[in-house]
Amino acid sequence: MTAKKRTLSDQIKDIIDGKKTAKEIIENEEVDGYGIRYFEISKGEGDAYRELYAEWEKTREEKKPVAKTIKYVMCGCGHECPEAQVMNASLGTSCPDCYDKMSD
Ligand SMILES: [Zn+2]
Repeated sequence: MTAKKRTLSDQIKDIIDGKKTAKEIIENEEVDGYGIRYFEISKGEGDAYRELYAEWEKTREEKKPVAKTIKYVMCGCGHECPEAQVMNASLGTSCPDCYDKMSD
């Protein structure tokens, strides 16, 4: 089952219409993280938008500690990449993108 990606306006409309709660949307659908921060609220959307935003913020707070555990290291190729993705090429350490360049 692939859920069709919907716009924030669609999701906010569902909250206004009472079809879904903000919590349901955040839990079951993909929410545009960039869009929600810069969403232009139209007349009547304010309350639903704030509800959705509050739920979205909660999920971000829960995810924060996980993101912090990723350690970035500087590779021999000059890029930073997550430690787990560092590759050992013949010319030094490399990020996955540069592996071919760094292999002699
Ligand atoms: Zn690189």
